[in-house]
Amino acid sequence: MFVAERFRSLVSNDFRILSVTEFSMKSHEFVPLQEIVRFSRLREDEVVYRIRRLSRERFLAGSAKPPSGYQGYVLTGSGYDALALRAFVNSGAVEAIGKSLGVGKESDIYEALDSRGKRCVIKLHRLGRMSFRQTVRKRGYVADRSHISWLYQSRLSAEREYSALRTLYAAGVSVPKPLAYNRHAVVMSVIEGTELKFAEMTDPEAILRKILRNMRMMYRRAGLVHSDLSEYNILVKANGQVLIIDWPQCVGVSHPNAQENLRRDISNVIRCFTKKAGLKPDEERVLEYVTGKRRSLGL
Ligand code: ADP
Ligand code: MN
Repeated sequence: MFVAERFRSLVSNDFRILSVTEFSMKSHEFVPLQEIVRFSRLREDEVVYRIRRLSRERFLAGSAKPPSGYQGYVLTGSGYDALALRAFVNSGAVEAIGKSLGVGKESDIYEALDSRGKRCVIKLHRLGRMSFRQTVRKRGYVADRSHISWLYQSRLSAEREYSALRTLYAAGVSVPKPLAYNRHAVVMSVIEGTELKFAEMTDPEAILRKILRNMRMMYRRAGLVHSDLSEYNILVKANGQVLIIDWPQCVGVSHPNAQENLRRDISNVIRCFTKKAGLKPDEERVLEYVTGKRRSLGL
């Protein structure tokens, strides 16, 4: 079952236990029961009861073989999701959480309603989850600080994406509107569109021009290179509008990899239009246009 559904069964004392665990994970590989009791200021029997439930529902995981002679607990990915979702609901950024829109390469996307009842999406970033799972499976426990690296990496990824979206949106680049972020999660406006890969285009050249015009704005006005641009990260709406998504790996134009990444982004886009529509614009010319060395595309 998806976290959004399991999330509904949690009450405020459950969240208290999850956030105490989150906090204490900074200093413990596994957070001892006594620590959770102390910081949550709940009675021990209630804590024991709730931890058992939270573990059964996989919001918490216990140390399988207590590594240092005590039983301890850590947040799972779902536990971390629950804390972020709760923060959105509490701050009013999100009014209701809906169904899953799918699992991406490095994220899970949920539909939601924002504070004004408008549809939006919540993107939960997932980095390093494989390595976390593998480590737990292999050893039964995680022995060093890598036990929280998935948590830091996912949070960093969301932070990067949110701040990029703010810059891009303000610069007039066609991206989802950033609405809020918390921990490893970003709330943004929903795009009713199809990934370029699957989009049926009546006028592919016009779509390509729009994408390249946006890439030029990204580079010149926002000072950013997407760095993972592909036919999956461009959404095309029925009216022909294009939106560029999936920004956590973007870099500034003066980053040492910026030019290389930009070339790769450009060839990915061109390759897609060659395949889908037989268009073959000159890559050098496109590069000059995007970076501003040339004023018009002149396709
Ligand atoms: P990942 O890193 O997992 O690829 P993406 O940001 O590309 O993350 O999101 C995964 C998929 O979710 C996208 O390919 C797209 O289909 C969908 N999606 C992402 N953001 C939105 C949005 N704002 N509106 C509608 N669908 C979205
Ligand atoms: Mn993507």
